[in-house]
Amino acid sequence: MDIKNKNLLKNSCLINGQWRESAKSFEVINPYNQELIISVPDCGESETLEAIEAAHKSFESWKSQTAEKRSDILYAWYDLIMKNQEDLATILTTEQGKILAEARAEIAYGASYIKWFAEEARRIYGDTIPGKSQDERIIVIKQAVGPVASITPWNFPMAMIARKIAPALAAGCTAVIKPAEDTPLSALAMAYLAEQAGIPNGVLNVITTSDSSTVGKVLCADDRIKKLSFTGSTKVGKILMEQCSPTLKKLSMELGGNAPMIILDDADIDKAVSGTIASKFRNAGQTCVCANRIYVHESIYDTFIEKLENRIKKIKAGSGLESDSKIGPLINQAAVDKVTRLFEEAKSKGARVIIEPEVKEGLLMSAGMIADVTHDMDIAKEEIFGPLAAIYKFSTDEEMLKLANDTEFGLAAYFFGTDPKRIWHIAENLESGMVGINTGLISNVTAPFGGVKHSGFGREGSKYGIEEYIQIKYLNWNLS
Ligand code: NAP
Repeated sequence: MDIKNKNLLKNSCLINGQWRESAKSFEVINPYNQELIISVPDCGESETLEAIEAAHKSFESWKSQTAEKRSDILYAWYDLIMKNQEDLATILTTEQGKILAEARAEIAYGASYIKWFAEEARRIYGDTIPGKSQDERIIVIKQAVGPVASITPWNFPMAMIARKIAPALAAGCTAVIKPAEDTPLSALAMAYLAEQAGIPNGVLNVITTSDSSTVGKVLCADDRIKKLSFTGSTKVGKILMEQCSPTLKKLSMELGGNAPMIILDDADIDKAVSGTIASKFRNAGQTCVCANRIYVHESIYDTFIEKLENRIKKIKAGSGLESDSKIGPLINQAAVDKVTRLFEEAKSKGARVIIEPEVKEGLLMSAGMIADVTHDMDIAKEEIFGPLAAIYKFSTDEEMLKLANDTEFGLAAYFFGTDPKRIWHIAENLESGMVGINTGLISNVTAPFGGVKHSGFGREGSKYGIEEYIQIKYLNWNLS
């Protein structure tokens, strides 16, 4: 791999400040050419228990550091990440497949959470509350929840970890991270830089594994872990929530989505086309906030389709490391099979093929587009998670809102329009945690990221993000 800082490419995991190998290992494969990148330890129950013990033991000293000290270390981590941005982006593209420009953007985006929570570390304020009697004072203090487990997906292997670990460390929590089997290298590279930045031994531990179920069970069942922060599918989120119930852990669940993208008749169509492309095709369509269902008003339906078609035809699928590629490969064969299944099923039920998504060599899939999609098709109910745009027609706002909310998910929603009264009405009635209005990009450190319904609960980033990692204690002080 063409990186300057060779220390970033790790073949070991991090437990209690030790870079460790394991009796077993598994291979990390480049999804573009299926070549072996490197092998990493295949950890199991015993390594996970060691990592939990390390996080448990180091919690006392880490939470007792001054907020300023934790803040300084997070700043140092942020600086190192940005200094190594190019190498980190190369590692990310090589293990995950997304184009290098997006990988660089992900590193900067993830780093922005570390900087933000370096700032927030100093602002974990409490409250004083007037007591019920003259002799009583009530004081609210905020304390770190304890050691945290973070389980993260492959689609944003760096940013999903940063969004969890930055607020956790800022609040005084320690952590055990379990990255996805497909993409452990970004997590290990970040952990190496965390160590260089001065994060003490045991505060941050990374367990790599091909057996997520076993490691997950150990993390969920252990009472020393006080919080689980999970990003991934709704199906796995529900399993983990159930597994955490005996230990009553605090939970954050950042789960799947099925985002509607709505184009109203008074929208700026060119802007709407650009917003749709940005939302739909980022990471080759593999984001939880990708426009999954594109609803277009009947009066502009044909015009919108024509303009979108022209743009989609120009999207080149290729190696993420080549500068003219606009989308890289999908993550694995199951992802390719899923998009193909949804496309074929929609076609068999009457969807009109505008651009056929073609499976090229390996896991590369070209960008596709279908129209006249309806809610009896699987593609309306499931995350496509691939480069296929699905267009639906609507005629009234009430019909459109009913369709947009006709899903168990509630993560992101988008619409394009201009009438302020209509904008308020639609924004307030969309059942989702985040709404993009006249934009296809909503992820941003200053805003609370998270969903409702089966997209989970908890918020990442913004002034709200730190709350997930602290607990409230109130002191009732009797002065008499
Ligand atoms: P996934 O299959 O749920 O996996 C997510 C993580 O959970 C991975 O680390 C995975 O490890 C682990 N895992 C899987 N089964 C497990 C089990 N039984 N016990 C413990 N851990 C387990 O999801 P994915 O396919 O990686 O990611 C795509 C999903 O994530 C989509 O649904 C997407 O919408 C969602 N997502 C949500 C957000 C958000 O912020 N709401 C952001 C990004 C992605 P292995 O991969 O090693 O098995």
